[in-house]
Amino acid sequence: MSEEILKIKDLNVIYKTDLETVYAVNKISFSLNRGETLGIVGETGAGKTTAALSILRLLPERTGKITKGSVEFCGENLLNLSESKMRLIRGKKISMIFQDPMTALNPIMTVGNQIAESLIFHNSDNKSREEIEKRVEESLEMVGIPASRKKDYPHQFSGGMRQRVVIAIALACSPELLIADEPTTALDVTIQAQVLAMMNDLQSRMKSAMIMITHDLGVVAQTCDNVAVMYAGEIIEYGKMEDIFDAEFHHPYTDGLFGSIPNLTGNEKRLSPIEGLMPDPTNLPKGCNFSPRCPKCMDICKKEPPPFHADGKHIIFCHLYNNKSQTAGGVL
Ligand code: SF4
Repeated sequence: MSEEILKIKDLNVIYKTDLETVYAVNKISFSLNRGETLGIVGETGAGKTTAALSILRLLPERTGKITKGSVEFCGENLLNLSESKMRLIRGKKISMIFQDPMTALNPIMTVGNQIAESLIFHNSDNKSREEIEKRVEESLEMVGIPASRKKDYPHQFSGGMRQRVVIAIALACSPELLIADEPTTALDVTIQAQVLAMMNDLQSRMKSAMIMITHDLGVVAQTCDNVAVMYAGEIIEYGKMEDIFDAEFHHPYTDGLFGSIPNLTGNEKRLSPIEGLMPDPTNLPKGCNFSPRCPKCMDICKKEPPPFHADGKHIIFCHLYNNKSQTAGGVL
């Protein structure tokens, strides 16, 4: 039976300054089982990274605020934990891989010491120095880097190898949940495919759950079991990966994402990228957030927030499917 490891319910996050309030994440809910990968897909500014940082409670201290909702991890609401308890969870039970390995790594520390740092911090079972060294070597080998390179510095590695080091650091403590924020965006396509294949393999061997944040539907197809499409801080479509890719109908924004993928098999279909820009998050439109860009926008879309349509496989928040709406069917 599948074991639910993460359950996010009605999460709302803002960034507040003296001058304005940015509504970054609005009413998002999803769950994730052990061993599964959820892809969160959407354009820059959709709220994907903010949602991930909220799970780890790593929002900017002065401006970021979770205003509503819960983040249950292994049955415990992380939003109720003290900062000292959260420090024991970050890196040990939940790890995050950031987009740019150059900023994620310390340039003046050997990669071995950077992997050891997390193992030493979370050394609750009092491993000896030798055991930690062994684990450092295993972690490097796990991501395809010879253990002998543990004394090298980040600048001595290529971009793809540096991202492997970042993944080794994230996996060193065998986390139960891995959050990967655009982990291959900075890499060229060949290396990207290798790194994604390696992450898939490691995840299935370690049986951890993974959230893959990406703007690329190709990455979703390669790595994910479920997909949440985000737009202007909201999840606007959600379902199993095959159902989203095979579905007869989508949210118009998801249609736009599919229309933005180059077709390498022939010329029968032209690229149809989504026109316009994401709405101002300090002043979201009334009704549907996608209405200013939506080619199928109706009068009601500018007045009422969209209801959800659920067909038992995927969920869409859109007025187009209003007359077909059913219950959520437990998908979210
Ligand atoms: Fe377009 Fe209306 Fe659906 Fe929004 S609710 S995506 S504006 S059709």
